Amino acid sequence: MLGNGPLEGGCACGKVRYVVRRTGGMQPYACHCRDCQTRSGSAAMVNLHISLDQFEIRGELIDAEVAKPNGSSVTQHACPACLTRIYSSSKSRPGTGILRAGTLDASDLLEPAVHLWTSRKQPWVTLPEGVRTFETQPDNPLEWIGLLRPEAGS
Ligand SMILES: [Zn+2]
Ligand SMILES: [Zn+2]
Repeated sequence: MLGNGPLEGGCACGKVRYVVRRTGGMQPYACHCRDCQTRSGSAAMVNLHISLDQFEIRGELIDAEVAKPNGSSVTQHACPACLTRIYSSSKSRPGTGILRAGTLDASDLLEPAVHLWTSRKQPWVTLPEGVRTFETQPDNPLEWIGLLRPEAGS
């Protein structure tokens, strides 16, 4: 389980480093949706919700705004040298970011508290028993985001 911070991380080439000063007890989640598979080029994305006022970046980032089918957009923030994506942000949720949790130095401590979009999960991925899963994702994000803070109770 991830501690409350500070947590350090960075891109693959080392030009971008960052610190999450406090996590607020947030734990990572995995999303197995098709978009996350495409964006990550992998089977799932492991993300951590962060508060941008607790997030300190050292180094330059390049931004790419990607429109979503629902009309909103997400901005991806990546290292310009090695193109590792560090986090994303959206005008629809000001002040918060979604960290690509695999960029944390302590990525061996990542254990998703919730798995979203298991209906799209690759068949060879086996989830641990007892973990919370959603076939898609709840309409109300507060429902599953609430599950990411086990210390705070439900
Ligand atoms: Zn880099
Ligand atoms: Zn997803």
